[in-house]
Amino acid sequence: MAQLRIPGPTPCPDEVLQAMTKQMINHRGPEFAQIVQGITDQLKTFFQTENDVFILTGSGTGGLEAAVVNTLSPDDKVLSISIGVFGDRFATIARTFGAEVTPLNFEWGKAADVDEIRRALEADTAIKAVLVTHNETSTGVTNDLEAISALIKEFDKLILVDAVSSLSAIDLPVDKWGCDVVVTGSQKGWMVPPGLAMISISEAAWQAHAQAKMPRFYWDFSKAKIYLEKGQTPWTPGMPMVFALAKALDMMAKEGLFNILARHIKIGQMTRDGVKTLGLPLFADEKYASNSVTSVAGAGSLNIKKLITIMREEHGIVLGGGQLTLGGKIFRIGHMGFVSEADIQGVLDALKIALPKAGFGG
Ligand code: PLP
Repeated sequence: MAQLRIPGPTPCPDEVLQAMTKQMINHRGPEFAQIVQGITDQLKTFFQTENDVFILTGSGTGGLEAAVVNTLSPDDKVLSISIGVFGDRFATIARTFGAEVTPLNFEWGKAADVDEIRRALEADTAIKAVLVTHNETSTGVTNDLEAISALIKEFDKLILVDAVSSLSAIDLPVDKWGCDVVVTGSQKGWMVPPGLAMISISEAAWQAHAQAKMPRFYWDFSKAKIYLEKGQTPWTPGMPMVFALAKALDMMAKEGLFNILARHIKIGQMTRDGVKTLGLPLFADEKYASNSVTSVAGAGSLNIKKLITIMREEHGIVLGGGQLTLGGKIFRIGHMGFVSEADIQGVLDALKIALPKAGFGG
């Protein structure tokens, strides 16, 4: 079977896949209530929060939309910090629902500059909320969210965080850093198939929610809260994914959050070191290189598309390509969730064989 090394969906352990084959149960009954309440408590440990946490049926993008429509009104001023494809998407969602978005875009491959964010916040005191991506999957860069959140709190703005490809793999203590709404996706660091978004909501976000006028129905946090009190979700949940998440969280609890984070730090470093030893440059500014996905730049006469094909066809390893303007210019190795050092060693060994065939060094 091919080894999936794209930055999501990520491989799932057999136990998690088996959990999905369980017979359906009544989503308004006591068994489901127990599962949902158990998952919600465990998620709070991984979010490092005492805030409300909801499980939404939808992908990460749905969670980002939920964050926006539940806290903002049309014409609200929003600062969007973007360092890549997903930062741009967050801004587009806010704009689609009528927010007045000021984009603060940084060169792809680099992290957001905290001083520039400060200048943007000083320049427009009417800004209500700031959108920020913790880990930009398209470029393999992790923003300094601790510093960014501290700054945003200094200005007393709401901070909405895309943590789709970071939470559970890269440290994000939600309460300590004061992040108001934080969104993650099941198919990333959680070892679960795609289809669920998990989201936390602070007290300040609830206050914003009470005033927010953007249209919403499916994603309405108020409905999610009322139903969670009964151990339910407002709408029929993606039940197999909920079973999968329950199993994955049990496995993750056994490993322990801090061991999981340490494993990702080690594997991130191992991947970067291995890639550099092969003679390839990293695309991401190494100071901010992600521990959940490594982006690798082209060099010399390397044909990246050919490399990806050779890796898939001859080695059974599926790598990620570059998105949008990065197509053919970078490739990405996903290493979040269910990943071991042996998996990455396998990727590096295969790359060593595949690179000359794809024109590198030849
Ligand atoms: N944000 C980030 C950082 C992501 O990596 C992704 C998915 O790759 C998304 C948002 C969108 O998530 P989804 O594809 O689950 O809608």
